[in-house]
Amino acid sequence: MQTHCKNAEILCIGTELLMGNIVNTNAAYIAKELASLGVNVYYQSVVGDNPERLKKSLELAFSRADTVITTGGLGPTYDDLTKETIAEYFGRKLVLHQPSYDKLCKYFAATGRKMTDNNKKQAFMPEGCRVFDNPNGTAPGCCIQQDGRTLIMLPGPPREMKPMFDNWAVPVLREGNDHILVSKNLYFFGIGESSLENKLRDLMEKSQNPTIAPYAKTGEVMLRVTASVTKEGEAEEVMAPALERIMAEAGEFLYGVDVGDLQTAAVMALKEKGLHAAAAESCTGGMVAERLTQVSGASEVFECGLCTYSNRMKEQLLGVKEETLGQYGAVSRETAAEMAAGVRRVSGAEIGVSVTGNAGPSPSEGKEVGLVYVGVDSDAFSEVLELHLRRTDDDAREYIRHLASSHALNEILKAAKYF
Ligand code: ATP
Ligand code: MG
Repeated sequence: MQTHCKNAEILCIGTELLMGNIVNTNAAYIAKELASLGVNVYYQSVVGDNPERLKKSLELAFSRADTVITTGGLGPTYDDLTKETIAEYFGRKLVLHQPSYDKLCKYFAATGRKMTDNNKKQAFMPEGCRVFDNPNGTAPGCCIQQDGRTLIMLPGPPREMKPMFDNWAVPVLREGNDHILVSKNLYFFGIGESSLENKLRDLMEKSQNPTIAPYAKTGEVMLRVTASVTKEGEAEEVMAPALERIMAEAGEFLYGVDVGDLQTAAVMALKEKGLHAAAAESCTGGMVAERLTQVSGASEVFECGLCTYSNRMKEQLLGVKEETLGQYGAVSRETAAEMAAGVRRVSGAEIGVSVTGNAGPSPSEGKEVGLVYVGVDSDAFSEVLELHLRRTDDDAREYIRHLASSHALNEILKAAKYF
């Protein structure tokens, strides 16, 4: 009997996880994927390599969800007890799965190692389960369906777990569901997650189809709008009212749809208009250039990045005036403007951007930590932003530098709109 998965629970197994020796990235990955599949997740848990406690966790999980996804404990060692315990929970025997056994034999023959009984144990699977092949390791995963319950068992190592989830678990989770999910990812910069949520709270809470979920990362917010439809072509219409409302409330902060990140949006915008950009960076030390060159095709639109850290280089390479540096300092509106104009001049690009600021931890030139000027210079549009990126934790320096580089990328996008 195939059931349609409605509620899933993630159960990660491993004493290492429980002790904090490794971070539970598997749960994060699976949770995110389940959200995009439209599967509800109300609980996640972690249990050590202990059969009794694992059994209790399974009972509890199945009292709350129709589907349980486990990771970990499928290996050959004595502490890998997941399969045995789950088989027992379902009252099933472990039986030799010949294709897995043949594959294991081949692997040991190819590596010239001797196979032990422990290794052989990996080819024994719960009777009647569906076996998930593991091309990246020796432990297969599997799926057991019984009495309306679905259990999906995946290996612990993320490089084995992720492809197995995508290729084997997702089709199982989709069974019995004639709806498909179509998503649009809307990317915002310059508005915080809480302000965006404030504007759209009622929509996010009430809207069932499409669903609207926010994801925040440093200085940015992504809204994923997901429609559940029977045919792909219906998605536009289902999404339209929600998209209209989102655009009315926050459209000015939207920098792209399904673009992924600011650097990709910037490169795409430059390409579209046949423009070029160049960057002069002080406190970001090349981060703007680094981010732009992550995007394939950047060579068509990015002329150069100059990391002008010292005043001398700001003068010599960019033509920033000695008087400007003397009178206003390196961290100033005036210097940022001359840096952007300077890099534009020396590179011949249509758009020059600049970043100069104090990323801390201590004030310099008597200027506060987090004070950053971001300049943009072009025929159509020039401006200098004054930013106060205050933060006091250990990561403050990285945070300030990252956010400053994001502003510079956003300035490229802004300027490109004027051409
Ligand atoms: P193996 O065959 O490697 O023993 P396994 O399926 O038995 O695989 P575990 O022994 O539980 O899995 O974990 C093996 C390794 O996988 C861990 O040392 C860790 O590096 C990684 N890992 C396990 N669980 C997780 C998790 N939830 N999140 C991230 N990494 C994990
Ligand atoms: Mg193991």
